[in-house]
Amino acid sequence: MLGLMQNRPLLISEILNYVERLHPEREIVSRDPDGIIHRTNYGEIAGRARRLASALKGLGLQPGDRFATLAWNTYRHFEIYYGVTGSGLVLHTVNPRLFPEQLQYIMNHAEDAYVGFDPVFTPLVESLAPHLPGVKGWIALCDREHMPKAQVANLICYEELLAAAAPDFVWPSFDENTACTLCYTSGTTGNPKGVLYSHRSTLLHGLAANAADALAFSARDSILMVVPLFHANAWSLPFSGAMAGAKLVLPGPKLDPESLWMLMETEGITKALGIPTIWLNFIAWVEANKTKEEIARLKLKLVGSGGAAVPRATIEKFRDLFGVYVLQAWGMTETSPLATTGAPLAKHEGVAQSELIEMQIKQGRQVFGIEVGLFGKDGERLPHDGASVGELKVRGNWVISGYFKGVGGQVMDAEGWFGTGDVAAIDPDGYVRLTDRLKDVIKSGGEWISSIEIENIALSHPDVFEAAVIAIPHPVWQERPLLIVHPRPGRTPTKESILDFLSTRIAKWWMPDDVVFVESLPHTATGKLLKTELRKTFGGQLAVAG
Ligand code: ADP
Repeated sequence: MLGLMQNRPLLISEILNYVERLHPEREIVSRDPDGIIHRTNYGEIAGRARRLASALKGLGLQPGDRFATLAWNTYRHFEIYYGVTGSGLVLHTVNPRLFPEQLQYIMNHAEDAYVGFDPVFTPLVESLAPHLPGVKGWIALCDREHMPKAQVANLICYEELLAAAAPDFVWPSFDENTACTLCYTSGTTGNPKGVLYSHRSTLLHGLAANAADALAFSARDSILMVVPLFHANAWSLPFSGAMAGAKLVLPGPKLDPESLWMLMETEGITKALGIPTIWLNFIAWVEANKTKEEIARLKLKLVGSGGAAVPRATIEKFRDLFGVYVLQAWGMTETSPLATTGAPLAKHEGVAQSELIEMQIKQGRQVFGIEVGLFGKDGERLPHDGASVGELKVRGNWVISGYFKGVGGQVMDAEGWFGTGDVAAIDPDGYVRLTDRLKDVIKSGGEWISSIEIENIALSHPDVFEAAVIAIPHPVWQERPLLIVHPRPGRTPTKESILDFLSTRIAKWWMPDDVVFVESLPHTATGKLLKTELRKTFGGQLAVAG
């Protein structure tokens, strides 16, 4: 017997209809590349998104066509999220930090029909255009006064396009399984692969992101969206933030600590979300430049961090300096991305701070709607006992079922599990502890050593700013860990002091065979340590050791 409830498609345009009616005055604040603050609200954004939808129809775009963006976090990029997807087109958010060859590959692969770009990306656009024959027009995201002199065919002014468009576009209704956004994984190995989200997956993911033990946005929140709109749908914030009617603050290209602090202070930020390297730099700057009284005046309540492991020291500093909880989340482009979050359980109430930190440095528990499982080398299920280590697999309504255009073949097994390529343990409470990427695991004498754990401990050393651990070949043990350290400015730690520090905190056989110091560590376009590069540079380090 079927239930007798209404069955309406879960469409992104419903979010816009909601905020337009219920939160029209709630602000969307954005900072342009020159540092100028722009204020608008959901009511205005909804109107502009409708004009954009009319304009794109006028340009001849058909449902399913791809509209790409090369843009920072600004109000224009935010309204494009809605104008494009609401009208049944697919928004392809492109990461401008990728190498030009990767950009050409993904934009051709996606068959982008039009590209909206921030004027600061004009040189990039000019270099890409000759290689993208499928692009019919380039839309500069600015008004006439700020139009760049880009040498590209069919250059269009975004504000003029909107001004000339009909304001009365009616959002169409269609199948909720229709594609809405497209993101490519950064592809540290092989070509990037496209992840194509649906309206349904996006709405379910947005609702899950707003659960109390996840991001828990409310109409009273003021959210600093440090995570870029071109990184995995900015972790759902454009959708989950709007579903809550929260104020959204978009920092533009300036993600330096001083700029972030300024926005936190002036915009009454309650929740801020970004990757660990952002917070590492932010804390170092605050410690050097701000007093306890100034910090106490901030309204910040929660820092969300994901994309890479959050160092213990970052969690402690936010607690001690700011009185702020760091909520770690784990996920990937293929999981929309939110899959686990590190909120405490009732049993954590009143526990010692050290015990709470042990929980917080884990990657968190599955949110409702996602299932995580642990699997051994032969595909056997491993127990969630906190000790067994295996590949983490996930399934759920916002997990990928296949890459765009079938690249990479079958990605789901018969039971719907998607292999993440992450290695983890899961404790009896369900907290996932990531130990490595499969490709970064250090195999020493038949056992695995966790690079993430050693990095995390090294980061607690007062002289260490950033640390990476990689496997290097060893004639006896197969592989051994090498620790690469970027010291804090003005500090000159020695190998001995670092090894002494580690020796009381990790098992003897996990101790790095060597420590090298560098002036900076390489990162991927999404801010992760670029270990392929480090292996190229330091891979032979210990081959001769006995
Ligand atoms: P890319 O940067 O390649 O586009 P994603 O942003 O999808 O890819 O990255 C997903 C990967 O990032 C995960 O598989 C995992 O290895 C890593 N990651 C994400 N969140 C965390 C976290 N909280 N702790 C450790 N690693 C994380």
